[in-house]
Amino acid sequence: MKRSFTALVALILAAACAPQEQQPANDLKVLISVDMEGIAGAVHSEEMGRTGKDYDLFRVIMTEEANAAIEGALAAGATDILVRDAHGSARNILPDLLRREALLLRDWSGGPLGMVEGIDETFHAVVFVGYHAKAGTPDAILQHTMTGRVADISINGISMPEAGINALIAGEFGVPVVFVAGDQAICDESWEILGDVVCVATKQGIGDERSAALSLHPEVAQEKIRDGVERAIRARGEYSPYRLEPPYTMVLQLRTLEHVERAATYPGAVRTGEMELTYTSDDLMEVITAFAEMR
Ligand SMILES: [Zn+2]
Repeated sequence: MKRSFTALVALILAAACAPQEQQPANDLKVLISVDMEGIAGAVHSEEMGRTGKDYDLFRVIMTEEANAAIEGALAAGATDILVRDAHGSARNILPDLLRREALLLRDWSGGPLGMVEGIDETFHAVVFVGYHAKAGTPDAILQHTMTGRVADISINGISMPEAGINALIAGEFGVPVVFVAGDQAICDESWEILGDVVCVATKQGIGDERSAALSLHPEVAQEKIRDGVERAIRARGEYSPYRLEPPYTMVLQLRTLEHVERAATYPGAVRTGEMELTYTSDDLMEVITAFAEMR
């Protein structure tokens, strides 16, 4: 039997907390999606993966930033917190250092929800930590959009960073993004797309193709994340789920002809330029799935 994620979590919580107190009216469920490129101090791809010598340090800082967001959510009254490890292998956050009030979702299921897997309509707010700007953004640290192959993705004419795509997925379930942490460039892009979300800039990028980083101390960044998440979740009623009007038209620019030709074989994909493909559907999740297959 296949159970929904919510049913699974309910089972785990029921087993852990029996006898169960039922407080459905007061529950406040928060999903925290944690990427790595936007955490304080990080500047280079060698720090982002397990073959890099400094990776172990930065996974501790990533875990600490997740903890700061959990603490902010708890201070705002969160009753259920799901942390989604959303970087690379999705096996970066150190489970034993993560605050015990949260459940941790690790690795990829292959499903379309990706960086916000676990989201459903029972959640009240989504928080992004460690996020980075879209491919091609100047003065942005470790900028890219999902893979190194994507030059740009737009949906209904809006060029999207990962934060925008993930906010659309959450919006499909009626859940607003209330908070973003990452470099200054992703704060600027988030404000442009999502409006007045709370954003904490952990660092400022300097340079185009690659960037230097002028960063806050990790502890200072964590204090700002804790305070910002609390403030944002308390104000969750002021935020709307991020939605666009169907039909949803994705225009995808890839960097190599080889990848364009491969992506063009995806059913429904139309080649609309040398390096460009277009895909349209009334179903947002079909577009998200197409992007996952074509990128
Ligand atoms: Zn990442």
